Amino acid sequence: MIPPYGPVKVQRCNHPLLRERKITLFVQREDLVHPYLSGNKWRKLKYNLEDFKLSGATMMLTFGGAYSNHLVATAAASYLSGIPLIVVIRGEPHPENPYQEFIRSCGTKMIFISRTLYREKGDPDFIRTLLENQRIHPDACYVIPEGGANDAGTKGCEEICNDVPDESGWIACACGTGTTAAGIARAMKDHQKFLGFAVLNAGNYIRETMIKSGADEGRFHINEDYVFGRYAKVTHLLKNFIKNFHLQTGILTEPVYTGKMFLGLLDLIEQRYFREGSVITAIHTGGVLDFSIPLKW
Ligand SMILES: *Cc1c(COP(=O)(O)O)cnc(C)c1O
Repeated sequence: MIPPYGPVKVQRCNHPLLRERKITLFVQREDLVHPYLSGNKWRKLKYNLEDFKLSGATMMLTFGGAYSNHLVATAAASYLSGIPLIVVIRGEPHPENPYQEFIRSCGTKMIFISRTLYREKGDPDFIRTLLENQRIHPDACYVIPEGGANDAGTKGCEEICNDVPDESGWIACACGTGTTAAGIARAMKDHQKFLGFAVLNAGNYIRETMIKSGADEGRFHINEDYVFGRYAKVTHLLKNFIKNFHLQTGILTEPVYTGKMFLGLLDLIEQRYFREGSVITAIHTGGVLDFSIPLKW
């Protein structure tokens, strides 16, 4: 596995609203685990890299959009571990896009496909044809689905619970595919409940993913009130929140995932969704990328 830059820290958040509402909010800084295998992506890759070794394959293949944290993390893992990687990217190449510049600099081979073709990304026949076109034998390639959304990814995310303070009655996190949510909800303690914030209009998909992975339906809720339209849509309200939250707490977030979660969480606290005295741990899943940091140590 790629060694973490540092241990995960859990800090108490000092926001004025928390004192007013008598709520304790811990922030679990998964984002500090690694600058490029950021937050939950490090967790999701951990057992995928182990399974890769067991598989006998000689390279990896994965999928993602133009601004995918998962592709950045997997490209960094490929560079640091020396495992060759091919990524299939939805849409046209953008030479100016820093995500794609970074991925290229890791020595990753990039294949761009249309949005229509990209919908087939989960189909084994599609993947076989794609590899054959590259003259690669399917057995030579370990495939990680988009977002690291597989059993190995979920298993890695279970370990997020090891650092959650015991007194937390609630664990919150931002949800894309629901893989991270599934791992947490499956591994959390009996007295804990999980609150997920959907960042795209896919609440049912997230819930189904979690239930299929063995999360107890009675102990989690997926909130869909803070999507702000669609995936990766940035509104003025969200931008201002991120700026103010950083000034008030010193914690950097971004608009695609963690900004939406913290905005939603503080709004629910304001509305007295949580009982006085509640203890919540919010998982900062990362995503605040700084491409000026060198990829080595
Ligand atoms: C990928 C990502 C998520 C979503 O994780 P899922 O397991 O797909 O739900 C959340 N936060 C950040 C910062 C991410 O990069």
